[in-house]
Amino acid sequence: MLKLENVTKYYDTFKAVDNLSFTVDEGEIFGLLGVNGAGKTTTFRMIIGLLESSEGKITLNGKKIDYNITDSIGFLTEERSLLTKLTVKEQVIFYGVLKGMDEKTILKRLDYWLERFHIKEYKEKKIKELSKGNQQKIQFITSIINEPKLLILDEPFSGLDPINVELFMDVIRELKQKKTSIIFSSHRMEHVELFCEKLVILVHGKSVLSGSLKEIKKSYRKKNIHIKAELDITKLKKVPGVVDVLENAEDFVIKIESDEYIDAVFNEIKKCSHVTEFRVEDPTLNEIFLNEVGEVYEA
Ligand code: ATP
Repeated sequence: MLKLENVTKYYDTFKAVDNLSFTVDEGEIFGLLGVNGAGKTTTFRMIIGLLESSEGKITLNGKKIDYNITDSIGFLTEERSLLTKLTVKEQVIFYGVLKGMDEKTILKRLDYWLERFHIKEYKEKKIKELSKGNQQKIQFITSIINEPKLLILDEPFSGLDPINVELFMDVIRELKQKKTSIIFSSHRMEHVELFCEKLVILVHGKSVLSGSLKEIKKSYRKKNIHIKAELDITKLKKVPGVVDVLENAEDFVIKIESDEYIDAVFNEIKKCSHVTEFRVEDPTLNEIFLNEVGEVYEA
């Protein structure tokens, strides 16, 4: 289990991470979310020991993370850190050996992953000759070649087309089945929503929302009511608790401030004709993210 306890990081006098605590269990997919500059990369760097925390404690299975256990960690960095003059094979061998692996095992696993990512023809090609998406695949393969117990993915889907996003997600889910703890960052909430179980939203290095995605969504009091009916938008906007009414091609979506206003909306809808649907839904993670981040920025 990865555990961060009251971790703070100062760059000089600037507080980039502020009293952050969370845990990532074995076989869990954890999202570290936040806008640019929120402190995600700084947190990752502290976890793998590239940076010392100013305060607090970071442990993996109860032990401080040092060179003895970094061999069991995989890290995909946000900025491309490939050695572009090397061939794919040379690159992966280089990193595998750094992680204490023997060449035979590295090559066996490399062949498997190249096949899995549909790029086996690139094995002897120089990294710089590869497209951005394929370089990202190599970077991903490099980060998992040692079959890490803890896998850290900083923006793993950036620059990938939807088919490859799906492929990466499949592999990540598979690693979860094999009990790998996975922590990743992303700006794309629709990706996070698809497979993340627990998350933290960071604003200026501070956690503003954390916990299980399911629980967060269920307990979030702002709701969206989907309605199919003939309705008067102006009237509905005046109902207490209604924040906005959106007209889609298929239905109307009424955004309410809190679930306590569902009844008030329902009473108004009862007056409408041709009502064929009244469905209350949790907000999307993107809406929650914008709400949380926006509120703090406005404060
Ligand atoms: P992004 O999504 O843009 O990658 P991030 O959430 O990863 O952002 P960090 O890179 O961790 O954010 O940066 C957090 C804050 O710390 C930012 O305000 C950044 O300018 C600052 N920062 C990062 N590295 C340093 C450094 N080496 N020295 C001083 N300040 C830094």
